[in-house]
Amino acid sequence: MRFSPEKLSIPDQRMKPFIDPDEIWNFIHNTSPDKIRVREVISKSLGKNRLTMEETAVLVNAVGTDLVDEIRQGARELKEKVYGNRIVLFAPLYIGNRCTNNCQYCGFRVSNREAVRKTLSDEEIISEVEALEDNGQKRLILVYGEHPDYSAEYIAHTVKLVYGIKKGHGEIRRVNINAAPFDIEGFRTVGESGIGTYQIFQETYHPEAYKWYHPSGRKKDYEWRLTALDRAQEAGIDDVGIGALFGLYDWRFEVLGLLRHTNHLEACYNIGPHTISFPRIKDALSLNLDGKYQTADDDFKKLVAILRLAVPYTGLILTAREAPDVRREVLQYGVSQIDGGTKLELGSYSDSKNEEQNLNREQFKISDSRSLGEVIDELLSNDYLPSFCTSCYRMGRTGEHFMEFSVPGFIKRFCTPNAILTLSEYICDYGTDEVAEKGWKVIEKNLQKLDTGIMKSTRDKIERIRKGERDLYF
Ligand code: SAM
Ligand code: SF4
Repeated sequence: MRFSPEKLSIPDQRMKPFIDPDEIWNFIHNTSPDKIRVREVISKSLGKNRLTMEETAVLVNAVGTDLVDEIRQGARELKEKVYGNRIVLFAPLYIGNRCTNNCQYCGFRVSNREAVRKTLSDEEIISEVEALEDNGQKRLILVYGEHPDYSAEYIAHTVKLVYGIKKGHGEIRRVNINAAPFDIEGFRTVGESGIGTYQIFQETYHPEAYKWYHPSGRKKDYEWRLTALDRAQEAGIDDVGIGALFGLYDWRFEVLGLLRHTNHLEACYNIGPHTISFPRIKDALSLNLDGKYQTADDDFKKLVAILRLAVPYTGLILTAREAPDVRREVLQYGVSQIDGGTKLELGSYSDSKNEEQNLNREQFKISDSRSLGEVIDELLSNDYLPSFCTSCYRMGRTGEHFMEFSVPGFIKRFCTPNAILTLSEYICDYGTDEVAEKGWKVIEKNLQKLDTGIMKSTRDKIERIRKGERDLYF
């Protein structure tokens, strides 16, 4: 049975909860995934169309190696045809791990007495950011626990501080944040500090499961969190990232929850999320989970491919929670951003003694601890074009992922040249000889894909970068 028409949020649904678990379960239980239908859905997506909840449920329900392979292949094709081979790089910077919440899956939860609590001082933030700049980072996401110490004013202060830290050719050009939700006034304060994306994960979209995992603290209020991005929009923040923590509840439900959230934002504010994240639960100190909903590798790979097909013009973020081999594979299905050189312990970027993870000081265990240089080296070996581009955000071109996808020639005019220029800077300032050798080859290959005029002006800018100029972009 097909459910149609679907419930879409309408403008008067602003600020109102939009998840109906029965609706989502109905899609999952009553959508049959025969081969023909699965192929129809994949080809709709390859025609650059957003999928509905019902169509996404068709893919979610598809079983059998061949059919699932077709989904993965579809995602690969969509990525290659539409996005090209750029991968944007960033790093997380934990500012403080004080927290009044009690999330059962998190090492920072208030009831975890073994956690060593710390908030970086301004001086420590400066040392950390300088160390990140020395590695070549240009884009950071600042992360905070939920605590009265981390008010909107404090967070705005840290964002402005980070933008002001410059070392040599190093500077942070885009500061995103992952922080607990604010009221509208708080969002306004944070927005005015110049953040790139405001990111928040619903963790699980299932209200009952949510209640269980969040027994106390402000975060126990499911609806306050669910409507956070409505308040952000009301406060003028239209660049937002959503996510679900896979492993808390049935992955199929979460995929449709993410899609429902996207529909809600698009219908109410005319702009969907800039990014979707799909972290999987990793080991943490005093974790309180039974592992019932642990998402297996195969399901994880399938769900990333489904998300790519369902929301072709939304950025997908894959983090160092995943091991290098999983990252390598999943990258092919349309991931657009990854972190590199990630460290979670507060203060550890500037403290090179400390290489091992220390779980009483960190939120969870990561599975990819390679340096940024190593991650870039591998990307280049696999013919990806690593990018530190921050151009759209700084030129006021919001909705960049949508434009990449829908404005003819946008990628060739802006994204590829800007990726080439930021990679050129990286090679000149931070690249090893090996990275330089591979990097210039990848750059040349990508220059060949550009139209003559833009190719020439990109080459001119590369020459200027080689001579010492920085921050050139289109
Ligand atoms: N305190 C803020 C909040 O809860 O919104 C910031 C978020 S937290 C520092 C970043 C995200 O990490 C969480 O939203 C959650 O999805 C994820 N996370 C928490 N514990 C995790 C674990 N054990 N494994 C993987 N990811 C985890
Ligand atoms: Fe605190 Fe966030 Fe961890 Fe929950 S996930 S305990 S709110 S830091």
